[in-house]
Parts: sequence; structure tokens; C-alpha cells
Amino acid sequence: MVKHVFIYSNDTEFSLPIKEKIRAFFSNSSSLEEDAVLTQDTDLIICIGGDGTLLHLIHELNFPETPIVGVNTGHLGFFQDLQPTEVEDFLKRWIQSGQHVQLYSTIQSQIWTGDKMTTLYGLNEMVIRGRTGSVIHLGVSIGSSFIEHFSGDGLLVSTPAGSTAYNYSLGGSIVDPRLELLQVTPIAPMNNNSYRSFTSSLILPSDYTLRMEPEEPHSFVQIETDGFVYPFQNVKTIRISYSKKKLRCIRILGHDFWKKVKDKYLG
Ligand code: NAP
Ligand code: MN
Repeated sequence: MVKHVFIYSNDTEFSLPIKEKIRAFFSNSSSLEEDAVLTQDTDLIICIGGDGTLLHLIHELNFPETPIVGVNTGHLGFFQDLQPTEVEDFLKRWIQSGQHVQLYSTIQSQIWTGDKMTTLYGLNEMVIRGRTGSVIHLGVSIGSSFIEHFSGDGLLVSTPAGSTAYNYSLGGSIVDPRLELLQVTPIAPMNNNSYRSFTSSLILPSDYTLRMEPEEPHSFVQIETDGFVYPFQNVKTIRISYSKKKLRCIRILGHDFWKKVKDKYLG
């Protein structure tokens, strides 16, 4: 049976030749066919680039359920397991037997402005910030308990997948993606005679919701998710939780998250 594959790539000098090589391989194969667009019948997405490329793919294609295999071009690639030279062997194996898929949980924000509610989805994180150059003041609750009046640059809520990205730069912990949790990491929290905020990350179970209420009238809030930025006026409440959307990333035998962490951060 013919298998349908969609190729997504960034347009660097490293990625484009790999895309062409994969196409040449398809034209010599009776079992593989390229889909020009992603459809219900697509069996596999090949993503060529870095982690940022995978983030662009999932936002552009609205969090597809089709399994994704990443080909890493010039980055360490937490989501990418294949080196460019390994693609053809991978495809031969995949046609025969499929491959191990790792599910990634995603995060959602619901933002209420007056009567209107907007939902945003992310794989790495949700960042809640105020106007550039201003402190944001947020009332923060976890589940049904009020926990703090936060003042500072903002709060970042990370998934395990996002823990190695912006979360880590802010001093948050690296989390094994096999765990299901949310990590709330403060961005420049203020602590003085007027304001008191937690200074370390808080770890929540995945079935909890974090609620934030801006403590100023006509509040401007900027939400950043996976590098995409969304401004909101008159924000009343923001709720952040796990979402039902799951990503399916193909994991190659020998893949080891902790080895990638060591290679990327300690060399
Ligand atoms: P970018 O500004 O071009 O690059 C951000 C960097 O983060 C890239 O090196 C990217 O890797 C890396 N990255 C992305 N997801 C990662 C993950 N899950 N684990 C480890 N590293 C990861 O933006 P982008 O490439 O579109 O990525 C968006 C992400 O940038 C956001 O989700 C946020 O986490 C991160 N970010 C980080 C900082 C910071 O560390 N100070 C500030 C803002 C945003 P590749 O080179 O492989 O693409
Ligand atoms: Mn990038």
C-alpha cells in the first residue's frame, strides 16, 4: 500500500537539499508518495530544521495528529531524532513496521476580555507579560487556592517539552517529557517592602488549572506561546491548563532525552 508523506522544512541552505534528496528517494519508490498539503490521509510528516521549525509547523497546521519525524539540520533538536544521513534508512524501516511514537502534551490558555473568550494552544509554554517596560501585577490561584499577588516581568508556564527552552534560561528545572506536569516559572519577580512573589518555579499536577487575574483596570496582557505573540486589552481572567491536543513525535531507537540534555547544555 502506498504511504503518504508531507514534508515541512525551513528554507536554510542545510534543509533545502535534504528536502530534494527525500523527493528523489520518493520518485524511486513505489510505496511512498509526497502530499503537497497535509490531508486526513497523510501517514507521516517529515519536519526538516530545528526545534523552532517544528513549533512553526504545529502552529501553521493547527496541531496535527499525524505522526511527525524530525530531521535535524544544524541544531541539537529536542524534537528531532534523525540526522540527514539517516532519513532513507528510517523511511525503509517505517514502511515495514511503523515506529515508536512519543506523545507530547500541549498547554492551553483561555483569556477572558469582557464577554469574549479566546483560546490559545502551545507546545513549549505560555508566557504572561504586561506592557513592555512595565511591571505586571497578577492575582494567582492554583486550583481553588489563591497563592500570591505576583509582581514582576511576568510568569512562564512550561510543559515538560518546553522545560529546556525559555523556562531553562529563567532558572526553571529541566523535566523528563515522560512526566505530566506544569511548571510555573517567575520572570524577574519583585520582592521588597511592597511586593512579595515566589522566586522559584512551582510544579503542578497536570490536571490542575492556574488562574491569573490582572490587578489593574483596563489591563493589557501579552501572551507569548512558542515564540508567537498575542496582545489583549481589558483582560479579566486567564486560565492555563493542559489541553486535549497531543502531538505524536516518532522516536528513533537509541533516542535518549537525558543524553540530549547533557550534549546541549554541558557539551
Ligand atoms: P528563536 O527565538 O528563533 O529561538 C529560540 C531558541 O530556543 C532556539 O535555539 C530554539 O532551537 C530553542 N528551542 C525551541 N524550543 C526548544 C525546546 N523545547 N527545547 C530546547 N530548545 C528549544 O525562536 P523559535 O526557534 O521559534 O523558538 C521559540 C521558543 O523560543 C519559545 O517557545 C521559547 O521557549 C524560546 N525563547 C527562549 C528565550 C530565552 O531562552 N531567553 C527567549 C524567548 C523565547 P532551534 O535553534 O533548534 O530552533
Ligand atoms: Mn529558531
